[in-house]
Amino acid sequence: MTVEPRASIVWDYAPAPEATDHLRLRDRYGLFIGGDFVEPADGRYAPTVNPATEEVIAEVAWAGPADMGRAIEVSRAAQPRWAALPDRERGKFLFRIARLIQERARELAVVETLDGGKPLRESRDVDIPLAAAHFFHYAGWADKLRFGVNAREVAPLGVVGQIVPWNFPLLMAAWKLAPALACGNTAILKPAETTPLTALLLAEICQEAELPEGVVSILPGDGAVGAALVRAPGLDKIAFTGSTAVGRDIQTALAGRGVELTLELGGKSANIVFEDAAIDQAVEGIVNGIFFNQGHVCCAGSRLLIQESVVDEVVAKLWARMGRLRVGDPLDKNTDVGAINSAEQLERISELVAAGEAEGAVRRSVQCELPERGYWFAPTMFTEVAPAHRVAVEEIFGPVVSVLTFRTQAEAIEKANNSKYGLAAGIWTDKGAKAFEVASALRAGVVWQNTYNHFDPTAAFGGYKESGFGREGGPAGLRPYLRVAR
Ligand code: NAD
Repeated sequence: MTVEPRASIVWDYAPAPEATDHLRLRDRYGLFIGGDFVEPADGRYAPTVNPATEEVIAEVAWAGPADMGRAIEVSRAAQPRWAALPDRERGKFLFRIARLIQERARELAVVETLDGGKPLRESRDVDIPLAAAHFFHYAGWADKLRFGVNAREVAPLGVVGQIVPWNFPLLMAAWKLAPALACGNTAILKPAETTPLTALLLAEICQEAELPEGVVSILPGDGAVGAALVRAPGLDKIAFTGSTAVGRDIQTALAGRGVELTLELGGKSANIVFEDAAIDQAVEGIVNGIFFNQGHVCCAGSRLLIQESVVDEVVAKLWARMGRLRVGDPLDKNTDVGAINSAEQLERISELVAAGEAEGAVRRSVQCELPERGYWFAPTMFTEVAPAHRVAVEEIFGPVVSVLTFRTQAEAIEKANNSKYGLAAGIWTDKGAKAFEVASALRAGVVWQNTYNHFDPTAAFGGYKESGFGREGGPAGLRPYLRVAR
């Protein structure tokens, strides 16, 4: 008797799109100045586009010089009153903002995904809860500031200008605003041009929380608006998160002006896999390290260093795992890799990947069906990468991992540190002592052991070398917003 082989069953996911009918988005958003949404003085508006569909979501006002002057004026007027509030009262406002972010979490997550292209699973489970957690954390610090700086006397800096990028729009706004406000400063935030919406919803939340007017202003706009904010007279500090090139420009513009500065810049972080690591767990960590948020992550584990003895096994398992990543509609709850944030970013990724091929690295991109409209890039791995290749040196800021190898622990450390950046690193090993030894030899602000891209509001985050200076998160995140008595 012959037995027919059983037909294999294809287990696939049914579409699971998140609903958008609960959104309360306006067609047009003004600038948020003095506790109200106002028209820009020169009447300039720009569309913000969904990168997964190229459809316009809303029109957003861009700030001009007159608006900036007005925002600085109201921030300046509000600051002494804000700083004079009992510390606990300031803390209560932050606490209210955190609670309102939680109440509007679903809406904020969907808007973050629409405006930026990141998978809903991430905006829902990472961006929005962490943004709320940052406000909760710094709400707790507002009446304990001295204890965050070795019990010294402290005072706020005054009015701070804050510029954030598009990869974690609400989360970066929370990283900036929460400590600044807890310390008694008033703040003017400039969101990125491609992702202004959740910052504008945060402005609504400030209204709902009855935050005193002028404590927070939100001035959307492009790089020119950011450059004008940096150069505007009347600010006591600039806090910037973005690319190293712009950070350099800002540092030059502020030289000799007595304006405080912190810079959170780019990275090319090493994710190091030793032969004694739990390989399956490491592969999950590599995937999370580079494909989380399409690789639009400053600390992405984009340089994968694998010990030679296990390189074939790790690469084979990683490639198999990459083939199972679901790329597509960011609103679908099963999507792992969403849309690239903008046409410009897609162009930059494509250009660097082409350079990788031209220089002789071996490219493998996952074969997957990509939507016809929108900006997409298939998860990609480079092997046969030499340390001097552009894909090993430059920040790609996309879903592209470059594999390098090493033989000994000393070589791993040397290769990991062989970068102009120093933002983060990952170490995968079974040996605790080895992990600590390697971590202390790495010139990186954050080092994860047997995990990657783990963020917590109580932990400091920041870079070495061209990844910037200053720390955000935890008590270390208070210091950049305080004058501390010697
Ligand atoms: P970007 O530097 O082009 O822009 C960042 C922000 O600065 C945007 O709001 C932009 O409008 C504004 N800007 C642009 N030119 C300016 C200028 N001349 N003066 C003042 N402001 C200006 O960076 P991006 O492409 O939006 O973001 C990606 C970069 O951000 C990557 O390099 C990434 O590594 C970095 N990043 C760093 C961290 C960190 O914590 N270290 C976190 C997230 C992103």
